[in-house]
Amino acid sequence: MQVIVIGAGIWGLACAYACARRGDKVTVYDAATVGAGASGGIVGALAPHVPDQWNPKKQFQFEALDTAHRFWRDVDAASGLQSGYGRIGRLQPILSQKALALAAARSQSALDVWQGKYHWQVEDRPETMASDTAPLGVVRDTLSARINPAKATASLALACQVLGVTILENHPVTALSDHGVSGPWGIAKADAVIVSAGVSGFDLIAPHTALNPGSGVKGQAALLDADMGDHPQIYADGVYIIPHSNGTVAVGSTSENTWTVDGTDHLLDTVVAKARAICPILANAPILHRWSGIRPKARRRDPMLGPVPNLRGIYTALGAFKIGFGLSHKIGEVVAAQIHNDPVEIPDSFTLDWHMAK
Ligand SMILES: Cc1cc2nc3c(=O)[nH]c(=O)nc-3n(C[C@H](O)[C@H](O)[C@H](O)COP(=O)(O)OP(=O)(O)OC[C@H]3O[C@@H](n4cnc5c(N)ncnc54)[C@H](O)[C@@H]3O)c2cc1C
Repeated sequence: MQVIVIGAGIWGLACAYACARRGDKVTVYDAATVGAGASGGIVGALAPHVPDQWNPKKQFQFEALDTAHRFWRDVDAASGLQSGYGRIGRLQPILSQKALALAAARSQSALDVWQGKYHWQVEDRPETMASDTAPLGVVRDTLSARINPAKATASLALACQVLGVTILENHPVTALSDHGVSGPWGIAKADAVIVSAGVSGFDLIAPHTALNPGSGVKGQAALLDADMGDHPQIYADGVYIIPHSNGTVAVGSTSENTWTVDGTDHLLDTVVAKARAICPILANAPILHRWSGIRPKARRRDPMLGPVPNLRGIYTALGAFKIGFGLSHKIGEVVAAQIHNDPVEIPDSFTLDWHMAK
């Protein structure tokens, strides 16, 4: 098949990679450059839902997280670059007796739903966390991983090119038509078009959908000069602390439905201050980089996948929201299967029809 992918973020590239592996001839159009959107970021937590009240959405995410190490190993081998992937686990403080009892119950359910491969276990607070942050210890899950978003996106882009994918930067798509796209550069046609332009993808499909398909949620994060090696990531007080493999630690993030300032502002200072209080070894770590991006949130929060109504040959891979990196390779495989008319099993809430139901 001839396939056009709109957007060289992590979801567009994951779709391009999956299609190219099937032998499709793929061209990616990006309005700017590879990783110019949310995927050019710095945080990179790949963390699971809690292992109870299991449902198809949690199962989908589990399957993605469970297989991510193989995907990124193959991508990095093909590109010769480093995605920074590592399954370092995650620590979350236990703050109350109720939370302690819940953690114990989840230890049991994790054995079942995580198939005995990964654990949700109660442990003493590590010395790296301030004594008042985790009065009753921590939960460690061994499924969570980290990745370097910008580097992973670059690695996947190169792996796509190794497979023969053409990536056209500075080629904005301004309109969709049956099996086609157009922009200031001209018109292109293909058997299938995958709209994966992040938050701007909602604007592209909006003329063809009954309801507003989605919006952006701004996030801010910072990169600190501190080497925590493969210390597990920490999620505490609403803040992610992600040790990366290159001697840096990312802290994030804000979650802003409205904003007046582009880039970063004082809200990020609060996130950094919390991270320094949770992890004293970060107390004096210099800030290397302050970053912000816009997360693509579909109107009902979940990913939005599938054919666009009233247009032939146009599909979406939108709504990556806060977990785009964790799901990316499985989203690519699902959308590639959809355009090939192969059977796919996805949660109902991931379909475009579900998002558009009133
Ligand atoms: C502060 C912050 C922290 C985050 N932390 C995490 C985390 O820890 N773990 C995680 O999994 N996720 C995290 N995310 C979310 C993650 O970054 C996103 O889910 C993901 O990057 C979205 O990928 P995407 O490919 O859908 O969109 P994007 O990365 O935004 O890519 C869209 C691409 O489309 C291009 N484009 C736009 N319009 C057009 C057009 N008209 N024509 C052609 N091309 C176009 C853009 O230039 C861009 O390259 C975080 C996000 C933020 C902001």
